[in-house]
Amino acid sequence: MLKDNFEEVEKKIQAACDRSGRRREDITLIAVSKTKPVDMLKEAYDFGTRIFGENKVQEITEKYDALPRDISWHMIGHLQRNKVKYIIDKVDYIHSVDSVRLAETIEKEAAKHNLTVKILVEVNVAGEESKFGLSPEEVLPFIEEISEFSHIQVCGLMTIAPFVENPEENRPYFSRLRKLSVDIDSKKVNNVNMSMLSMGMTNDYEVAIEEGATMVRIGTGLFGARNYAHE
Ligand SMILES: *Cc1c(COP(=O)(O)O)cnc(C)c1O
Repeated sequence: MLKDNFEEVEKKIQAACDRSGRRREDITLIAVSKTKPVDMLKEAYDFGTRIFGENKVQEITEKYDALPRDISWHMIGHLQRNKVKYIIDKVDYIHSVDSVRLAETIEKEAAKHNLTVKILVEVNVAGEESKFGLSPEEVLPFIEEISEFSHIQVCGLMTIAPFVENPEENRPYFSRLRKLSVDIDSKKVNNVNMSMLSMGMTNDYEVAIEEGATMVRIGTGLFGARNYAHE
């Protein structure tokens, strides 16, 4: 059943690629496994899933310890500075960097492990008050400031679009993030590349792919609805 969900999502990703003249291999599917038990991740692992997204530090460390080492973990949630040290050597990407102070902490902890950590800059494209992320105007100065950190590799931008009934409503936000990324790329900031665009969730990933997403973060569509009652 879990496998059926993955196959269904896979078909839709392929269809969105076909519609927009994109190649499937240019899009990374991040299986967002937050709140789901290790057994379920193991099942997905066994049929080939290797990229998981989590939004809580403690869940990453627990699942990291319980599952094989060839998994690529993506931290997609808001990250507190005092917790960076617990995941710095466990995650491949941090999608949610939105302050210089957080970037400084990542730099410091990465240096201790002699690592370069790949990060994305979170942008609040829709200007929602409830959301983390920089406003579009803040992104270039922010990237210029953190580009000098030698243990951080800025790889692109990330956004969490509003929750909407009709995913078409989010198309302008995805399109705006892509334009911002192209703009910033044209500035050729040292040590910065804009190859990644992390946008699109269960409700709107097809539109996001049509608008240029290179990473889609899908939870409910793969693992089913989340139950927060036990948190
Ligand atoms: C939970 C979460 C997702 C996945 O959401 P679904 O709607 O279940 O696909 C994607 N991105 C972030 C940042 C999340 O926290």
